[in-house]
Amino acid sequence: MNRILLLDLTREQLQELMTSWGEPAYRGNQIYEWLHKNLVTDPIQMTNLPKRLRERLAKETIINPLELIVQVDDDRGETRKALFRLPDGATIEVVLMLYDKRRTVCISTQVGCGIGCPFCATGMGGLTRNLSPGEIIAQVHWFERWLREDNPDSEGLVVQRPSRVTNIVVMGMGEPLANYDATMQALRAIANPKTFALSARNITLSTVGLVPKIDRLAAEHLPIRLAISLHAPTDRLRNKLVPINKRYPLGKLMDALVRYQEKTHRRVTFEYAMMRGINDSMEQAHLLVDLLTPLRKAHVNLIPLNPTPGSPYQPSAEETIRRFQQILEEGGVTTTVRLRRGVEISAGCGQLRQATQQPDVLQFIRQ
Ligand code: SAH
Ligand code: SF4
Repeated sequence: MNRILLLDLTREQLQELMTSWGEPAYRGNQIYEWLHKNLVTDPIQMTNLPKRLRERLAKETIINPLELIVQVDDDRGETRKALFRLPDGATIEVVLMLYDKRRTVCISTQVGCGIGCPFCATGMGGLTRNLSPGEIIAQVHWFERWLREDNPDSEGLVVQRPSRVTNIVVMGMGEPLANYDATMQALRAIANPKTFALSARNITLSTVGLVPKIDRLAAEHLPIRLAISLHAPTDRLRNKLVPINKRYPLGKLMDALVRYQEKTHRRVTFEYAMMRGINDSMEQAHLLVDLLTPLRKAHVNLIPLNPTPGSPYQPSAEETIRRFQQILEEGGVTTTVRLRRGVEISAGCGQLRQATQQPDVLQFIRQ
């Protein structure tokens, strides 16, 4: 029998499940609170439910689908990357990042990714499958549970416990808008003010720019932040670096973002991974300014590429990045350079998984 993943169900669906089990619908509400507010991992802990119901839940459902394979901290104690196995054997990466007083979790939305950006470790293996809503939510809950522990031992990370997750970036493995419904259901659960209650404004979703989905996102009443993986100022180059550009070229993407801003009045962030000799010339910086000018509020994050084993792309020199930034700033585009801290480490999401597919590397990481 296939067990039901409880985190996959909305409050209404949990009520329906209870009714179908011959229980009163309000039991669904109680279970929802235990799952999304108290983050219990075992139905036995749901103390306001009758014993026989807890036993049935224990037999027929799963709460936490994540089994930790390996976790790796960086030297500064600012990031922890975790690799998990799902019940079907698929593996995904999740990252906790501690900086700027934030406790940010970088989550995955797919096993692998079908977009195939040639500089990205996740893209190299293609798409295995979409994650379900519960598999996405569980990633946040995993680190939230650890942070909530009343235990001053930070296990080498720079964090006080108990504390809470403050931010989420949907920048792990996979293209979130290619798994739209599951991702939105998961983010709504996280942002639900009655339960997990993380402000939607503290959630950033990164996408390559699936135009019809950007229009859908603009119509959702969920004020998350949007980041676009741009990486190139011309169609010719972007067709190579972000192949979906052939379907949704820059003109169409920019039009969609103008519509998005008209509707939401929210700033859009552009991620631009700096690759030596590929997208880092001064001429390209000027082209980028021209491209972004029609937008009301645009911000660029320049990220030195995190080189992926097996890929020929290399990071730009620091000096080149500074000059590139200067041109953007002079053109009126606010720009942040992220030098190998925080988000850019997770930008290598998929790299731990790639490394661990070679058993000797896994052995090395565990030592
Ligand atoms: N698929 C989505 C979200 C996940 S990737 C997207 O592409 O937007 C999150 C960010 O990391 C994206 O901007 C992606 O282009 C970038 N990225 C992927 N591999 C990288 C690498 N090796 N170095 C730097 N950034 C990388
Ligand atoms: Fe997929 Fe994003 Fe990697 Fe491109 S950068 S292959 S869209 S995960």
